[in-house]
Amino acid sequence: MDCGRELLRYLAEQVPRIYCLEAEPCPQEEELALSLLLQPLEYFLFGEDPHVSLEKLQQSGASSQLCGRVFKEGETTYSCRDCAIDPTCVLCMDCFQNSIHKGHRYKMHTSSGGGFCDCGDLEAWKTGPCCIKHDQGSTSALKLDSDCALEAGLQERAQKLFRVLLQYIADMLVWEENDILPAELQPSVKEDTYYCVLYNDEHHSYDHVIYTLRRAVSCSHKEANTHTSLIDKEGRRAVKRGTYESCQQAKRLIQENSEQISLQPLRVEILHSAVMAHQSFSMRLGTWFQQIISSSVGLRQVFCQVALEPSPTAGRASLISRLMLHDAKLYKGARKIIHELIVCSLLMETEYKRLFAIEFTKHYKQLQKDFISDDHERSISVTALSVQIFTVPTLARQLIEEGNVIKVIIDTVMEMLSEHLDNNNRFHFQGYNSDKFFRIQVIFHDLRYILISKPMIWTNKLRTQFLEGFRTFLGMLACMQGMEEVKRQFGQHIEVEPEWEAGFSIQMQLRHILSMFQDWCASDEEVLLRAFKECHSTLMSCCNQPFHGEATDSYMCKHILHARPYRVSQEPVTVHLPVSRLLAGLYIHLCRTGAIVHLHEYAHCDFAYFAEHPLRCLVLAAQVSAEMWRRNGLSLVSQVYYYQDVKCRDEMFDKDIIMLQIAASKIDPNDFVMLVLQRFELFEVFNGSCSTKDQELLKQWNRLTEEMLHLFIIIIGERYIPGISGVTKEDMTMREVIHLLCIEPMAHSSLVKALPENESRETGLENVISTVATFKKPGVSGHGLYEVKKECLQEFNPFFYHYSKSQRSKAEDAQKKRKAQEGCDKALPPPVPPPFSQAFSSIVQLLRCDVLLHVLRQVLQKAVEDTTTQWTEAMVQRAMHLAAQALLEEKTQLEANNEDDVTFDFNIGSEHGKSLFDFLSKLKGLPSLEAQKDMIQWTLQMFETVKCLRVKSSPLAATSMDQTKPEENIQDKEKAERKRKAEAAKHRQKIMAQMSAMQKNFIETHKMLYENVPESGAQGEPSAPMVSKRRVAVGPRRGVALIEREVLTCILCQEEQEVKARAPAMVLTACVQRSTVLTQCRGKETYNPLFMHPDLAVGTHTGSCGHVMHASCWQKYFEAVQNTSRSRLHAEPIIDLENGEYMCPLCKSLCNTVVPLIPLDPLPLHLESAELVGQLLTFPRWIEIIMARINGLKAATQASGKTSPNSKPCSCLEYFYDHIHCFLPNSKKFSDSIGNMLTVCATTVYRVGLKVPPNELDSRVPIMSWNTCAFTIQAVENMLLDEDKPLFGSLQNRQLAGLKAVVQFSAAQRRKSSQAVIQNHFMGMLGALIPHMNDEDSPSVLEIDCFHLLVGLVLAIPALYQEETVDLEPSAISTAYNHLYLLHLVTMAHILQVMLDDGLMVTFPRFRTDAPGWYVADQVRRGIAPFLRCAALFFNCLTGISPPEDQLEALCSYLALPSNLFSLFEAHKEVVSQLLQRYLFWLLNFLTLVVLRKYPRKQNRLIDLPEDYSTLLNQACHFQCPKASDDERKHPTLCLFCGAMLCSQSTCCQEQLDGAEVGACTAHAASCGAGVGMFLRIRECEVVLMASKTRGSTYHAPYLDDYGETDPQLGRGNPLHLSPERYRKLHQLWQQHCILEEIVRSQEVVNVMFAFEWQML
Ligand SMILES: [Zn+2]
Ligand SMILES: [Zn+2]
Ligand SMILES: [Zn+2]
Ligand SMILES: [Zn+2]
Ligand SMILES: [Zn+2]
Ligand SMILES: [Zn+2]
Ligand SMILES: [Zn+2]
Repeated sequence: MDCGRELLRYLAEQVPRIYCLEAEPCPQEEELALSLLLQPLEYFLFGEDPHVSLEKLQQSGASSQLCGRVFKEGETTYSCRDCAIDPTCVLCMDCFQNSIHKGHRYKMHTSSGGGFCDCGDLEAWKTGPCCIKHDQGSTSALKLDSDCALEAGLQERAQKLFRVLLQYIADMLVWEENDILPAELQPSVKEDTYYCVLYNDEHHSYDHVIYTLRRAVSCSHKEANTHTSLIDKEGRRAVKRGTYESCQQAKRLIQENSEQISLQPLRVEILHSAVMAHQSFSMRLGTWFQQIISSSVGLRQVFCQVALEPSPTAGRASLISRLMLHDAKLYKGARKIIHELIVCSLLMETEYKRLFAIEFTKHYKQLQKDFISDDHERSISVTALSVQIFTVPTLARQLIEEGNVIKVIIDTVMEMLSEHLDNNNRFHFQGYNSDKFFRIQVIFHDLRYILISKPMIWTNKLRTQFLEGFRTFLGMLACMQGMEEVKRQFGQHIEVEPEWEAGFSIQMQLRHILSMFQDWCASDEEVLLRAFKECHSTLMSCCNQPFHGEATDSYMCKHILHARPYRVSQEPVTVHLPVSRLLAGLYIHLCRTGAIVHLHEYAHCDFAYFAEHPLRCLVLAAQVSAEMWRRNGLSLVSQVYYYQDVKCRDEMFDKDIIMLQIAASKIDPNDFVMLVLQRFELFEVFNGSCSTKDQELLKQWNRLTEEMLHLFIIIIGERYIPGISGVTKEDMTMREVIHLLCIEPMAHSSLVKALPENESRETGLENVISTVATFKKPGVSGHGLYEVKKECLQEFNPFFYHYSKSQRSKAEDAQKKRKAQEGCDKALPPPVPPPFSQAFSSIVQLLRCDVLLHVLRQVLQKAVEDTTTQWTEAMVQRAMHLAAQALLEEKTQLEANNEDDVTFDFNIGSEHGKSLFDFLSKLKGLPSLEAQKDMIQWTLQMFETVKCLRVKSSPLAATSMDQTKPEENIQDKEKAERKRKAEAAKHRQKIMAQMSAMQKNFIETHKMLYENVPESGAQGEPSAPMVSKRRVAVGPRRGVALIEREVLTCILCQEEQEVKARAPAMVLTACVQRSTVLTQCRGKETYNPLFMHPDLAVGTHTGSCGHVMHASCWQKYFEAVQNTSRSRLHAEPIIDLENGEYMCPLCKSLCNTVVPLIPLDPLPLHLESAELVGQLLTFPRWIEIIMARINGLKAATQASGKTSPNSKPCSCLEYFYDHIHCFLPNSKKFSDSIGNMLTVCATTVYRVGLKVPPNELDSRVPIMSWNTCAFTIQAVENMLLDEDKPLFGSLQNRQLAGLKAVVQFSAAQRRKSSQAVIQNHFMGMLGALIPHMNDEDSPSVLEIDCFHLLVGLVLAIPALYQEETVDLEPSAISTAYNHLYLLHLVTMAHILQVMLDDGLMVTFPRFRTDAPGWYVADQVRRGIAPFLRCAALFFNCLTGISPPEDQLEALCSYLALPSNLFSLFEAHKEVVSQLLQRYLFWLLNFLTLVVLRKYPRKQNRLIDLPEDYSTLLNQACHFQCPKASDDERKHPTLCLFCGAMLCSQSTCCQEQLDGAEVGACTAHAASCGAGVGMFLRIRECEVVLMASKTRGSTYHAPYLDDYGETDPQLGRGNPLHLSPERYRKLHQLWQQHCILEEIVRSQEVVNVMFAFEWQML
């Protein structure tokens, strides 16, 4: 004791010196606390260096066999559906991955925080309780359990120390004084420093607090933000440090300010700094304890013992109880520390867990009360620990036996709900507080936990205590029996909708509890019988909705009903009858287990009374459905809806039906039917003593009759409950599933939703689905569906009792349609039901009792008389169904037994039978019953069949065979006729389908005409040999282009126009975007647009949907869109009007510019003269001439800077023209409107591609046009390769049209720009190829993408012909040679690039000498292929010459290249050798500086995703935010382009982008995808598409469960697997530049008004 006081004195002095010295907690605090406080404690504890001891303890392996990992919010947990004792048993990611359950049926869920991993808990799992990791722990721990005792000295010191420290923690955390400390902690000097501490509450919003703080303590927004988020996380925070007065001032301001905004002041306290210091240290001690006791079982046990030992002070609870009881008063941070401490100590040790559980139960009521008046969430309340205790089966049993925990829990609920009890001791929830009510309901969870596992063995004590609890439970049910009664409203509509949700939410909470109680009872005969007795006497003592009238006699068919009257339509009724229903449930169990034989010893049953209230409730439902209760408002409709809904029906509607079946089996059938008639208020209608002409009333009677007949169908036919017949639970589920699938094929998740769940959240669907249904796999979209198997269709019952009205008619339609398609008759007879069990067998007698037959006959008679207002088709249908049920029953019995055992006789031969038969025969001809014809026929035939069976089985042999024969013949004939008709119908359908296909085809063709996109490649079928010889697009041997007049129709004004250079422009919709789909170095960007870097980091793509308009029409449309959109403020925020975006008027795809259509230039070429020229114009000569021209131009520009403009250049020019004496005056001018459109398009390309403000005069404008041309071609080539399609002929028309337009547009670009600028660009580009004119600023040939270079050069070279004064054009022949030599030059450069390939260089470091020739040749062929393909596409679009085959040789000849490309070097030896020498010289000098690349370039694809989704979740689980170190919930998000894992939706990782704060994903997309992004949000299992900062949409993740469904938000939690097809689709979306389009499309579908801040992702 002394050393304890000593220690406290030390703390009293030290703690205030270490903690709370600054306004903010500083890093020194922790250092000082370690060295001055915690380390000394550890030295004292271990008596030596703590590191050494801890090491020793750990080595002895005495750590836990339980995992016990506490889940953070958002962490993924796993539960095994095969092995978990109940769904609350979960595993952490690590344990799951290492467990056997990985291969089982598991579920994934997202933890809401607080729970812990149950790995290693033997009671939580049926098999495989431990993962590999914790299995080793368990064996050693078992071994050590006996001797895990600590060394005596340590044990003693630990006890002493722990006692003092835990006491200290408890004292300080529950300390409520703000200014003074307990005596023993009073420091020698008291400083005058205080803290103003702000507490968390659930009333004020985040923004309120920030606002208040900024005003009250004048801090920056950032500080206020930090304060607020910490208050939210920790529960409190010091917002000011200073003198008492200054803190007082701050407090006042905070309270005033917060009161102003939300009427309620924030909670602020002023704490002395020493108090704060001790509290901070207590928290630190908490984590210290966790660490120390996790190292050794021995220490942990000491801790548990100290925590639970009774306090030495009398009347005071144990330390742990003190902390628990104070829980609701503590702030969040302190609670969390304590809960974690409890989890890692008391809950880890079986024995101490038991003791703790008893302690917990003892305080249960108080704890719940505290929780209910507290405003924090349950996850941070100590009451949330109940799940850890109550779900352990052995503990639950002990708590029942020793603590009577069932009674404790129910008493707690009842006390909370007592304020809602009315004078009759029934609940009445009008005006309840929904928040409080919600908290009370949580208590029911505990009851469920306790009951989760049924006992295997019953002891007497358990029986007694359980029944005691059961009695309390009945007490609560009695308060619900008859609650919220309603009375039918007459005249006026009700004014106030009565409260009903509260009652139903309790009913829903009780649903599983009720069935669990029944299961418990059923597991022991004695308990079952005694429980029945208790329940019976409770029911008899309930006095809800009593009778008022005296019993009277009523007569029908010579039978007398002696009963007390009750009119549901006039007297109060209720849907809440839990006691009656529980009794019905128990009765069924009595039947099932056979205990029913002892029932008479326990209770005397009045079955008519049992059924009275359930019957009234069913009548109420019928009357509501007959619209008799319209004036009672929605609340009643909702109640009746839920009464029969899947969420409630098993303990409501179903039990009422069972109760009626019980009664029907015990009461005389005539009495029973008369009773039902009377409660339905139809008795007088059917005994003929009342009639009316009131149409309304007649309608009502008809509706009620329908409902009543339906009820009889149900009572007789619904036997799929164990106990009522011999079925199993599987049979029940199977039947439900069949009936659901008879409505329509369904997805797995919809089936699950439509089936009742048991207490383990299982529906049993998986066990039966494969027997009753076949699975149809999903395509690239949509989901997998189940279809009912054919052989199960005979189970279909159109009057299945769980069908809603609409389901019933849907199912009936579907089945009739199916039958018609199969050519069968459309009768839907009742299925053959399983036979009733003994106790219920007398129910079938209803079918032949006089009163029911009388009712049926009356219904049919009215139909035969056809008095339209007195019958309905539905009535006849139901009556017929009943008759069919009777016939089936008799038939089944006759077939199965010999006649003596047949107990059922429908008396066909009797007068009743005959009249029924006669009526039916007459109905056959009734036109208004056309739809029922087949069913009537079926029933009539059944009459005959049964008659035959009777006759056959009777000794009096068959006589009436002939009589039936013609009937049968007629039927056969009818059948054949029907079949023929069906076949004819089928044939007709087929023809119709063909017709419509043809029509469609026609429309398609027509549409094509209408869209007027020129046919691609194959079109025209050129007269073969001549042209095919000349499939050459480059050089003097160039073929002839097939150029047709293009006449197109404008999609806006529908007028036709020919595309002509001088005509008004026609334009094509287009979308320009930056693209990284080809990048070889994701995330980098190079800046010289003149030389596209071979990494193709960011290209400019121009796509088109291929729709054509007049430029003038488009302009009008565009302006109109702009105007209307601006006037509608919020609409279509997705369209960026400022940047010229619009939607294609026809197909709605997103566009941001138009490409003008420019006709192809035919440039006829005279072969002979071309060849003649060729003899003169050799390659070296050509270079010479070009160089001369360039030098001339250079000199001119230099000179123009100076004084003399015309001396040398002239001679150069002459030289140029002399030698390339083939030029023409430029005859091709464009019309103004084409010129304008060229500018529009070029400016957009420039603006978007370079992310700069538009400037049509910028010198980079033409470059960007060439670039987008080159890049678009490369993207198309890459896409075709990726999809394994041939280069030519596989593009869609719209794509090809777009591509051609882009090429022609960029070719025309040079005419729009200053010729000097173009000439300059040309010189720059050529300079990179011809080294001796190399400028310093042109990059090495290895640093340029050759295809971009080629396109640039080819499109720029005509500018060389241009003179300032004369518009000159190169002639066709010049052009041919220019193309040829440029192509040769660039190709050779590219071969060089390929040979310096990274791979080649690595394999053969000195490849020039080492590499075998064939290897190099092969590498080159493969490496250069993409370039050649692109070049072929380019020249095809440029010249219009028919394309070649897609094969290297053909491409080479198309491009006028030798098929052995190396021979190029050979052919141009003279020129090339000197060039090469320079290249090589240059290469040798610079090689080290150059990053070598691989050719062909790698094709980008989306990153590889794991097949199993849990692998991704695993990654997410280990994800650490790169910026923040706190353990807050994070949203790890995966970039599908590069695989980067980002921290999205979190302030920690926000970045600045163009001056705005954006989330990590947006920032990443900007660099990774040039603004476009595709991300997988891992926890949400959802793909996010993003484009240009503010736009985004979600997309289904490419993961499917076994049922072919996606699972956004992991709501269902089934195992998920990668769907390669769907992932492929995402890949294509990206590669085809359709992400933006997809976003726009999805936004159109979704809510336009809903503006999500995508940029914050
Ligand atoms: Zn674990
Ligand atoms: Zn484990
Ligand atoms: Zn398992
Ligand atoms: Zn037009
Ligand atoms: Zn379109
Ligand atoms: Zn990325
Ligand atoms: Zn972060």
